[in-house]
Amino acid sequence: MISFRRPSRQSLPLILAVALVLFMRPLPGPADLAAAAAVTPGLGAAANAGITPQVAAAPQRAEGEGPFGRLILRGATLIDGTGAPPFGPVDIVVEGNRIVNIVSVGAPDVAIDANRRPPVREGDRVLDLEGHYVLPGFVDLHGHLGGSAQGTPAEYVLKLWMGHGITTSADPGSGNGIGWMLEHKARSERNEITAPRLLPSATFGQGWEEPITTPEQARAWVDEIADVGAHGIKFFGLRPDIMEAALEQAGTRGLYTTMHHAQLNVAWMTVIDSARLGLTSMQHWYGLPEALFTDRTLQSYPLDYNYNDEQDRFSEAGRLWKQAAPPYSEHWNAVMNELLALDFTIVPTFVAYETTRDFMRMARAEWHEEHTLPSLWRFYEPNRIAHASYWFYWGTEEEVAWKENYRLWMTFINEYKNRGGRVAVGTDSGYSYNLYGFSFVREMELLREAGFHPLEAIRAATLKGAEALGVADQVGTVEIGKMADFVVVDENPLENLKVLYGIGAVKLTLDNEVVRVGGVTYTIKDGIVFDAKQLLADVRTIVREAKDREGFEITQPGRGPFR
Ligand SMILES: [Zn+2]
Repeated sequence: MISFRRPSRQSLPLILAVALVLFMRPLPGPADLAAAAAVTPGLGAAANAGITPQVAAAPQRAEGEGPFGRLILRGATLIDGTGAPPFGPVDIVVEGNRIVNIVSVGAPDVAIDANRRPPVREGDRVLDLEGHYVLPGFVDLHGHLGGSAQGTPAEYVLKLWMGHGITTSADPGSGNGIGWMLEHKARSERNEITAPRLLPSATFGQGWEEPITTPEQARAWVDEIADVGAHGIKFFGLRPDIMEAALEQAGTRGLYTTMHHAQLNVAWMTVIDSARLGLTSMQHWYGLPEALFTDRTLQSYPLDYNYNDEQDRFSEAGRLWKQAAPPYSEHWNAVMNELLALDFTIVPTFVAYETTRDFMRMARAEWHEEHTLPSLWRFYEPNRIAHASYWFYWGTEEEVAWKENYRLWMTFINEYKNRGGRVAVGTDSGYSYNLYGFSFVREMELLREAGFHPLEAIRAATLKGAEALGVADQVGTVEIGKMADFVVVDENPLENLKVLYGIGAVKLTLDNEVVRVGGVTYTIKDGIVFDAKQLLADVRTIVREAKDREGFEITQPGRGPFR
């Protein structure tokens, strides 16, 4: 069987195979392993053993104001995340880190009656947000806090997230070790770092030197990971008896569970199989078309296919959805309805595959020049061993196949939502030209393309993600009693989701001037107000300094510097 435990140096051939299945991550040397033992005193073996933090830890927080005794967001239009239409002007009153009042104070284009407003007392902090929109803080269900292959310090990733309004982020896998992630989670809870709320999952088997080959071992591992305080578990697929034991124990311990149905394991279990055993959510899309097969049991692999050849892997994946039952056919409906009955969450991560259907768009995205670290750029470039850099010869045929793949995939996701299914936003940034933060907005645009109303896309990006993670009693909507997590933007995001991008959206004014509008103005997390544009300016400084240090300019793939 394939286990996805952290590899030891002794198993180099296995490492290479496993690394290609997952993500290219560096191999720990003996010194690293020794150092790792000291990472997090007090946490269990699973939290530490064999895991070496790969990126620089987040620095002490130097940004943000608050929390305040009372903070009043005055005169904004509210999009509350429930799916309710915008309404305003409203005044939102926060005490400490809790929303204590939301008052509708008038109608558009009418002067606000001061007597209707919550009183401003001495010492209150007031943000005058006339003309602004307030949304709940965003929830990303697939946020890796970097890896050494990407060369992304935690500060860089966290500021890209916070600069785009992401106030809750769930790392599926915790590549830096669950102990490291739990330390960052605790520091974020204490607001010692500029970071979203972090809800990390451990990769199944992570931290154990021995592979898990029995149900008893699986239960013991789940217990250990629950004891150290992991929020959940990320699976890549297992033999069914081990999967059953792990999911049952995870259910008993109240853990969030999610899975990337890796193709090496999908013959054992498709999405419907794992959902029946209690898996609560899926990432990406693998395993879904396989659950929809009617005239085959396996993907139609070419006979010279090799999963470790990533161009093989991704180009054939682009021909997978058309092998499944067609939309609205009997089997397609039956699978969808059973997933709905199981209250199963789908996190499609459309953005993680977008380069497959439009390489140039992604490789030339406007934000790369100032916001992409040189090390990350190098990781994105065509490469036979870096995961998800499968552009060996990516041509028209591959893009056309993927466009059709997306049409079928999006049809399923939109209909799943229409029938009451939970669809949430995840990004999986740091691969395939997907940049942290920016990709979250792009994922909302792709949900819009799939057929979501912009309000439905925003609900997926907020409430639905919070529900999937089991934290909707705390975050995910702007409601009295919930945590004070907000996104504030000075344009209407329903009209144009692009105004949420850190680079804003292009607009021609009535004076024929080409300007940029939007960009998140404030990200408010736990009652602390962050200047979102300053956070992204910090990111640009980190990038500039790295380029100066390395003498590097971003290039077009296969070309020299473009300036
Ligand atoms: Zn991922």
